[in-house]
Amino acid sequence: MDLVLPRPLSHSSISMYSECPQKYKFRYVDKIPEKPKHFFSFGQSVHSALEYFYGVKTLPPPSLKELLAHFKEHWVRGGYRDEAQEAEYFQDGKHILTKFYDKHIQDYAIPFFVEYEFKLKVEGVPVIGYVDRIDKLPDGRLAVLDYKTGKSLSSARVETDAQLTMYQMACEELLGAEVARLTFYHVPTLKEQVVERHPKKLVEGLRAKIVTTAESIVKGAFEPKPDEKVCRWCDYKPICPVYRDSYQTPETDPDELAGLIDRYGELQERLAEAAEEAGQLKADILASLVKKGFVRAFGKKFQVSRAAAEKWEFADKKKVLELIKKAGLYEKVLAPSAPKVEQLMSDPALPADLRARLGELGVRVETPDLKVKPL
Ligand code: SF4
Repeated sequence: MDLVLPRPLSHSSISMYSECPQKYKFRYVDKIPEKPKHFFSFGQSVHSALEYFYGVKTLPPPSLKELLAHFKEHWVRGGYRDEAQEAEYFQDGKHILTKFYDKHIQDYAIPFFVEYEFKLKVEGVPVIGYVDRIDKLPDGRLAVLDYKTGKSLSSARVETDAQLTMYQMACEELLGAEVARLTFYHVPTLKEQVVERHPKKLVEGLRAKIVTTAESIVKGAFEPKPDEKVCRWCDYKPICPVYRDSYQTPETDPDELAGLIDRYGELQERLAEAAEEAGQLKADILASLVKKGFVRAFGKKFQVSRAAAEKWEFADKKKVLELIKKAGLYEKVLAPSAPKVEQLMSDPALPADLRARLGELGVRVETPDLKVKPL
């Protein structure tokens, strides 16, 4: 008998249920979306470009220019910390796709399937998924390939990974051909981890897991499974029953703390607005002083005088980033913005040779500044 689920099971929803049934409930029963994550957005953007690359019906394949244009047009924006981080990932994506293109334009062949959507039932349990690419081998068997854009996976994982087992099961059931091999393709490093088809016992284990997961969901078994390593990244933590006592909201505790928090937030917003206005006024005053040739000028309560500030500028940000990453200090800057790199260079703990090499990549630029003091 078919089980009625909030939605068909997929590899990711089964994983989420195993990780924490309460999290599954928030996501798939209560339908509370998770926040966008930059690594998912980046993965989607690269997957979409590869789907375009291999998705042609007839030869020739898209050119590199067309591939990169598609990447740009279908870039998924959500989840990036700021524009600098997004720009850095976008450049990384172009670089990765160019390397991929250069390697695979040599062995290009139209795949058997690209982004193959499967729907099947396992003992009455509906299951869905998408396979990134399926190639047909000369002997008629299939090669299943899944692209990865995050961290590369260990070879042990590829041998037993449940996602690949699910793809094997679905392809064999729906396409009527045996799967010969399974591949995780780590796109950033062009590394392919290939294994023979998964053994029957893994397929049977997966089928049993699909059924037990579905039965638990239908029974309403959504006990939280707290684990600090998982909970710290969980978007549902503020509403999770496990952490109810750790979070105060206006509804649960409408005391004066809520008022203080709102007041503090408003002040921070006003500070940001004031800083923006002050920056514009400073630029206008400086422009006026330069135009009139004055070094000092007076208001009724304050006086200003022209000064000069020095700052670093880096023409080749990629090289700066490479150097910082190589020194294991990427976490300190996260993006090669000049102020962040300057802050890093002024850190007394920075090795002198690294400071010197960073200095070789930049120039000190003098910028006009304004000093202000009361009369
Ligand atoms: S915070 Fe932890 S226990 Fe709560 S839903 Fe998320 S993963 Fe589960």
